Amino acid sequence: MESPTPGRRPVIVGNWKMHRTVRESVELVDRLKPLVGASGHCDIVVAPPFTALWAAARAAEGSPIAIAAQDLYWESQGAYTGEVSAGMVAEAGCRFAILGHSERRSLFGETSRAVSRKAAAALEAGLTPIVCLGETLSERESGRTETVIGTRFRQSLDGLTEDALYRTMIAYEPVWAIGTGRAATPEMAQDVHALIRGLAAEVFGRQAAEQLPILYGGSVKPENVDGLLARADIDGALVGGASLKAESFAAIVDFQV
Ligand code: PEP
Repeated sequence: MESPTPGRRPVIVGNWKMHRTVRESVELVDRLKPLVGASGHCDIVVAPPFTALWAAARAAEGSPIAIAAQDLYWESQGAYTGEVSAGMVAEAGCRFAILGHSERRSLFGETSRAVSRKAAAALEAGLTPIVCLGETLSERESGRTETVIGTRFRQSLDGLTEDALYRTMIAYEPVWAIGTGRAATPEMAQDVHALIRGLAAEVFGRQAAEQLPILYGGSVKPENVDGLLARADIDGALVGGASLKAESFAAIVDFQV
């Protein structure tokens, strides 16, 4: 098996979605800390709901756990009822922001154009955007994976500079693999990760593309993480369900390649 290119440090991100109250989030961070304390081999990020960001960030202080927002709005302030800005989540203790998750795209009508504006706002606030993209089952089955990934990549990163790509991560999340228990095989995922790295090289240049962390997301578990992360272009994992239990998330963080 090939191993990740030296220089691209593995990243494991837990997306808690709309799970965990403030108290439960602090408890989960507290349970995770002793389990991942010695994990110097990768970066560890968790994404609690907005309400718990500040408390989770305080709880994670002095540990290797960094905090991500699950979304943000591109304006810095104003009459945008219900929205939260990049600066606000940065001040709450976030260093990362998950953007363009398939649930945002399918349930809330988020477009790739909106994702690109959010990514620019995240970068402006000093956050690392984790830009998600993936194909649906019908897109895959009709042979359109390459086309839709190409379009979503270009549109979601539209307007970003080469310099910005050095502070950005991509998460390839096939929609049919999210929350279904049916992960992509390492070969399927590697093929799309290589495609994304090729697109990044076309748009931003080879050097920027080579250092771009591309995470895989979709039913990642302790049992399948090793095979996925052993592939050359798979630099980490974006984990939903299995990130809600400290033991399973820590077992994923403890991947072996
Ligand atoms: C996700 O929500 O990004 C995700 C990949 O979920 P799960 O791991 O549960 O498939």
